[in-house]
Amino acid sequence: MKIKFWGVRGSIPAPLQQSQLVTKMIHLFDKMEDKLFSKAELKDFLTQSSSTNLFCIGGNTSCVELLANESIIIFDMGSGMRLLGNDLFKRLPNRILDIHVFLSHTHWDHIQGFPFFGPAYSPNTKITFYSPHDNIYERLNAQHDPRFFPVKLNEMACQKSFIQLEPNSSFNINNSIVVQNIEHHHPGKSYTYRIESEGKSIVYSTDAEYTNLPDDKIQSYSDFFAESDLLIFDAQYSLYEEAQKIDWGHSSALFGLDIAIKSKVKKLALFHHDPAKEDLEIIKLLESTIKYKEHYFPNNPLDVCLAYEGLEIEV
Ligand SMILES: [Zn+2]
Ligand SMILES: [Zn+2]
Repeated sequence: MKIKFWGVRGSIPAPLQQSQLVTKMIHLFDKMEDKLFSKAELKDFLTQSSSTNLFCIGGNTSCVELLANESIIIFDMGSGMRLLGNDLFKRLPNRILDIHVFLSHTHWDHIQGFPFFGPAYSPNTKITFYSPHDNIYERLNAQHDPRFFPVKLNEMACQKSFIQLEPNSSFNINNSIVVQNIEHHHPGKSYTYRIESEGKSIVYSTDAEYTNLPDDKIQSYSDFFAESDLLIFDAQYSLYEEAQKIDWGHSSALFGLDIAIKSKVKKLALFHHDPAKEDLEIIKLLESTIKYKEHYFPNNPLDVCLAYEGLEIEV
């Protein structure tokens, strides 16, 4: 299975500002340490994209693409979905697209990209929307009210179908991909998905709060994440912010690390970054999470990374 991140911010898009660009440039020059680079070396330096040398995490809200057994699966339709649509046109021209969209919930940052998803305007595109939430058609239709957007949902040419999943159940796509869901604590509820295909497993878990939950509830989440190859995790807050923002519906990188280790996850991708944090703050959050792991779990093989726009992970 192959994952690509198209939007990784939470709550609201956070485009790069001039002052942030200047801070990034200064940070970059610091890393260059007065070395003289040839043009080619400079190009290499600028294009390297390991988690700690990231140039830009990206400001689009949640949208993740998963390719499994030739099926196109999309988790959430945040503003990153616009870029994914453009890419699908380029990658798969003239192809009839059969797209499966799994929604964690319908807060704006998880649906606002859909009106700008180019393939949705083509009759050659078939989109199936899945969610344990009720009335997904009505919820999306409300976003296309003419007072808010000029094109109505039923005027978008793609074929649309809506499947309401049983909460905490399992669903099968094309007899080759199993998708389980579990309800999470979040205002209005949010659902996490676990996908199993070709002997591998990926968990998409966002907009989920764990504060003040009883131990057996935490255990049920740990069981759901157990031994997954990749866990995409809501790490919007620092541990301090998580303690301050009770009932805001989000989690932290350190809690993600703890539960990933407890669940024997292989790779943890920190996701749904706080729009109030600049990229360097988010990178520092990753660095402190890795330090914590090295100190308390030095022999644990868990790999921790930041989800950023354009990152691809194959499991
Ligand atoms: Zn969100
Ligand atoms: Zn939300």
